[in-house]
Amino acid sequence: MGAGVGTGTAAVCQLLRLGGVTAAYLDHASTTALRPEALDALVAQAARGAGNPSSLHSAGRRARVVVEESREALAAALGARAGEVVWTSGGTESDNLALTGLLRARRDADPVRRRVLLAATEHHAVLDCVEHLQAREGVEVTWLPVDGTGLLDLAALEAALVGDDVALVSLMWANNEVGTVQPVARAAELAHAAGVPLHTDAVQAVGHLPVDFAASGADLLSLSAHKFGGPVGTGALLVKRGTSLVPLQHGGGQELGVRSGTLDAAGAAASAAALTAAVADLPTEARRLAGLRDRLLAGLTQVPGAVVRGARPGAGRLPGNAHVTFAGCEGDSLTYLLDAAGVECSTGSACQAGVPQPSHVLLAMGLDAEEAAGALRFSLGWNSTDADVDAALAAIGPAVERARRARSSRTDRSRRRPRSLAGGVS
Ligand code: PLP
Repeated sequence: MGAGVGTGTAAVCQLLRLGGVTAAYLDHASTTALRPEALDALVAQAARGAGNPSSLHSAGRRARVVVEESREALAAALGARAGEVVWTSGGTESDNLALTGLLRARRDADPVRRRVLLAATEHHAVLDCVEHLQAREGVEVTWLPVDGTGLLDLAALEAALVGDDVALVSLMWANNEVGTVQPVARAAELAHAAGVPLHTDAVQAVGHLPVDFAASGADLLSLSAHKFGGPVGTGALLVKRGTSLVPLQHGGGQELGVRSGTLDAAGAAASAAALTAAVADLPTEARRLAGLRDRLLAGLTQVPGAVVRGARPGAGRLPGNAHVTFAGCEGDSLTYLLDAAGVECSTGSACQAGVPQPSHVLLAMGLDAEEAAGALRFSLGWNSTDADVDAALAAIGPAVERARRARSSRTDRSRRRPRSLAGGVS
């Protein structure tokens, strides 16, 4: 059995190393392939058979050992204590648990504290959760400004912390669309000086940048395994000791009652293996990916009308992120044309792809809807190669030309149409 599993795993790993079945996958920020270490751990644990980590019998205790060893490994890779790790189903759940759980706990302790401070460039898992709490639970929101690269205005944060009604600051570690890295440690210092905790959505940072939970000063940190080579459906919320959360799920009382639900030993083992490997590779991988990314950006900006968005390449930007707007194009059309040419990338946040609206991140950075319409995000990951960059650079020029022609003929047609028929789509 073991040998059979091993052979199968090796074959899949080989496929993953070769970049899977597609020609050029440049959408790793959306989700990345399982790392071989994660696949091995996943298969090994699944092959061990049943065993609920909460059961008292031997199979349950064996599964519990796997969960706890994985918890320790995950914590060690992130400068956290094992007791600070709460397993979840991924980034969205971690963000919702952090924000809702903490805001409810703060409200219960002091009804006046119901304001959350955040920038409009946060991921929808944060934005929509906060907007829901605003509509349903009387949470107040202060939107903090960012500059043209997406960087938070720290002076505005400091000014907003003056009121005594602030319950929480939420600041993402790195932006999923434009890759801008935020000053989380400084923001945590400012928040703490005002007696306010800070949550950081580090879904795009973990495994890609050095992340030290204790050193960051954050009280809550969200992560998701499928962004660093672990399986989809496993994530974690790091909760600093002494931070109170009201649970969102009620049931078996797992994870000290904070997150009920049967623990996924295979998912935990695979996530810990992926993160351990990603963190060990980080210094060399960050350099390698930044090199590929910079070559990609240099080639993309040869296309007339192409503008790089987000922070300048360097410590302030995710090493695998290349974000460019192409004037006179629709990002969606470009994505389809590139896909037809064997290049897979995104218009921005994958969770929004298909929704024909300008990116809220680009609008918050000061772009107008027309500039934001032509946005493309290319994101590199652990199995990206020079050949992926070559494929993107070969395809981009013709794709932009076709997308521009298609857009201008659409515009001409709608101008020629009688006024009463021209509208219809907002
Ligand atoms: N936060 C950020 C910054 C993300 O990029 C994503 C996914 O794209 C999420 C949260 C949601 O994570 P998950 O897909 O694990 O629910």
